Amino acid sequence: MIEMNKNGLPDKKSLKARESNARKFLCVVLACITLFVSVVCIAVHAKNIKLKKDLVTVESEENQGAKPVDATQKPGSVKPVDTSAPVSTTEATTAPQKAETPGTIENPKIITIDEEKWYLTLVNSGYRIPDSYSPDLVYVCGSGERLDRKVAEHYEKMYDAALKDGVTLTPCSGYRSYETQERNYNRKIEFYEGQGYSHEEAKVKAATIIMPPGSSEHNLGYAMDIVCVDEWFEDTAEFKWLQENAADYGFIMRYPEDKQDITKVIYEPWHWRYVGVETAKALKESGLVLEEYMGVAQ
Ligand SMILES: [Zn+2]
Repeated sequence: MIEMNKNGLPDKKSLKARESNARKFLCVVLACITLFVSVVCIAVHAKNIKLKKDLVTVESEENQGAKPVDATQKPGSVKPVDTSAPVSTTEATTAPQKAETPGTIENPKIITIDEEKWYLTLVNSGYRIPDSYSPDLVYVCGSGERLDRKVAEHYEKMYDAALKDGVTLTPCSGYRSYETQERNYNRKIEFYEGQGYSHEEAKVKAATIIMPPGSSEHNLGYAMDIVCVDEWFEDTAEFKWLQENAADYGFIMRYPEDKQDITKVIYEPWHWRYVGVETAKALKESGLVLEEYMGVAQ
């Protein structure tokens, strides 16, 4: 309400009071707006902090679930979990890791044997032991054949168990020296070269039957060719017994018929290799060969 002076004009004092009231009102409005904006800012900031915190928690949990593959587990989803699996990650190891460039017949890798997991040592044309390798050998079952001492005791247990079932697992060919392997392999290469194959082709073809030196399990002293008979070994009682029982003693048929594309070795029902009971049972159950089990199948 503006008061009028005696001249009928608005009173100056009244006008000033009105201006002052308007300023006060404006200040209050600005203060309210500032307060509201501040509250909103604080709320948003607090929400962001909570979101970040939650995110960190989720990431942390996911990382725990996605830890690098435990070295004690087999690579690949279909492979069995086996605590006797390889742990070494160095280039020259008993157990090559999948991340490595696999060894090949042209560029084989020279391995060293893991003292703890010696029974998982993988040799093939891509992974070889050095020519200096010299196992501790013993004769087995009164035969003229030798095996690595650590393997021999398991072979003898298996031999005795089979004998009780009326089956004789005659040791036919056990340890073979690097030099003998080299000689046999070179002879096979010459044979294929004589048939018209190139040297490189002959090397690959020879390796399917006689492994290159250092790449045979006979060079390790871990494998035995069992029985020498005229009939096809697959038809014998010995073979049937081994199929049923060998895994219980830690032995596997290393070169099955249906895995030749992976082992690169012909079907050898007579060749039995020691890998430890746990691994032998896992391989028997899964149908995997050692290359697949170790994650280096090509
Ligand atoms: Zn053999």
